[in-house]
Amino acid sequence: MKKVYDLIIIGAGAAGLFCASGFEGDCLILEKNAEAAKKIYATGNGRCNFLNSEANPSCYNNPEFVETVLQNACIDDLLYSFENLGVIAKEEDDGRMYPRSEEASTIAEALIKGAQASDIEYGFEVKSASKESDIFIVESVDGRIAKAKNLLIATGGKAGIQFGSDGKGLKLAESFGHHIIKPVPALVPMTCEEDLSELAGVRCDAMINLIRHSSGRDEILAFEYFGEVQFTKTAISGICVMDLSREIRLEEGVSYKLSVNPLWDYSEEDRKELLAEFPLEYLVPRKLANYMKKRPCGIEKSLSFNITGTKGWPDAQTTSGGVDVKEINPNTMESTLVPGLYFAGEVIDVDGFCGGYNLTWAFSSALVAAGDMNCHLNI
Ligand SMILES: Cc1cc2nc3c(=O)[nH]c(=O)nc-3n(C[C@H](O)[C@H](O)[C@H](O)COP(=O)(O)OP(=O)(O)OC[C@H]3O[C@@H](n4cnc5c(N)ncnc54)[C@H](O)[C@@H]3O)c2cc1C
Repeated sequence: MKKVYDLIIIGAGAAGLFCASGFEGDCLILEKNAEAAKKIYATGNGRCNFLNSEANPSCYNNPEFVETVLQNACIDDLLYSFENLGVIAKEEDDGRMYPRSEEASTIAEALIKGAQASDIEYGFEVKSASKESDIFIVESVDGRIAKAKNLLIATGGKAGIQFGSDGKGLKLAESFGHHIIKPVPALVPMTCEEDLSELAGVRCDAMINLIRHSSGRDEILAFEYFGEVQFTKTAISGICVMDLSREIRLEEGVSYKLSVNPLWDYSEEDRKELLAEFPLEYLVPRKLANYMKKRPCGIEKSLSFNITGTKGWPDAQTTSGGVDVKEINPNTMESTLVPGLYFAGEVIDVDGFCGGYNLTWAFSSALVAAGDMNCHLNI
C-alpha cells in the first residue's frame, strides 16, 4: 500500500507552502504547476507586498472570523516565521511590508526553502478527494493516488487564473459538503460603457465615489475614497478603484456608477473661479482635460462612468467569495463538517484591500492550520 502521510497539502502557493514550513509531521504537497509559488513572483509588481503591519479585521469581509484567525497568528508571529526563513521586512506607508531586497523572488524562495522537509509532487492536478476510514484519498487527473490522515485545501480561488488557481479547490470543498459563496473577481480594474480610448495612459489623483443603483434606489457604497486613478483603453484602474471593485456584484436590475473628481481639492464653487483663471490642461493631465472639455455638463463637474463589470479573473488579484466561513473553525482552520479537513488562504470566503492584506491572510490562516495539526501530532 502506498505511504500514508500525516498531511497532504493541495497547492504549493502562499498558504500551502507556509503551512508546510510550520508543520512538524510527514507532509506531501501536490501542485498542478511544474513549479511552486508561481503567483508569488508576480505579486506587488515584482516586489511582493507580503504583509501589512496594520492588518486588522476591518480590512476584510467576514471580520469576526478574521479577528480570531489574526489573534491566533498575528503579524509578529508571521514576521518571526519569515525571519526564520531568512526574510527581513521593510515597512512603507500604511503598514505595507516588502522583503528588504524588494524582490518577490525572496519570498518565493524562502517559502520553497521552508517547505523542503515535505515531499512535493509537481504536475499533480487534483481531480478529486474523499475520506474513507479516516484516510483522505486524493486523485490526480492522470490517475495518480496519494493518501494522508489530514488534508489541507490551499488551492487559492480563481484570481490570477494563469498562475494555477482555477476554482477547482472550491469544487473539492463542495464535494466534502461545504457551501461556497459565489466567487467573483476582486481587486480588479473596472470596465465601463464610456469609450476610454482618449484617456488611455492617464494617471491622476482623484476623489472617487461608487454608487449602486437597484430597484429605483441609489446606494452610496463608497464616498470620497481618495487615490490615484489610472485609465487604460478598456478599463479604469488604480489601487482605489481596485479596492472598490470588491463591491461589484453584477446582477439583473443592478447597475453601478463610478464618479471621479480630479479637482477634488477645490469645492465646486472654488472650481469655477479656479477654471476662470487657470487652463484646465495645466491643472490635470492634458488628455484628461481634453476629455473633460468635450462633455456637455461643464468642466468643473466630476467625471461619471457607467460600470459594466470588471476585467475578470486573469486581471484580478483576489477572489471575493469561496468556502463559507460558517463551516470552518477560526481557531484551527479545520472544517466543522469533516474532521481532519483544513482550509487556508484565498479558497476561503475572506478577501481584503490592496496593501498586503491578502497575503497576510494566506500566511495567518496557514500558520493557524499548521499549529492545530501539530497539536494533534503530539498527542
Ligand atoms: C498579479 C497579482 C499580484 C498580487 N499582489 C499581491 C500583493 O502584493 N500583496 C498581497 O497581499 N496579495 C497580492 N496578491 C494576492 C495574493 O497573491 C493571493 O491572495 C495569495 O497568493 C493567495 O494564496 P493561496 O495560497 O491561497 O493561493 P495561490 O497563491 O493562488 O496558490 C494556490 C496554488 O494551488 C495550486 N492549485 C490550484 N488548484 C489545484 C489543483 N486542483 N491541484 C493541484 N494544485 C492546485 C495552484 O497552481 C497554486 O500554485 C496578488 C495577486 C495577483 C494575481
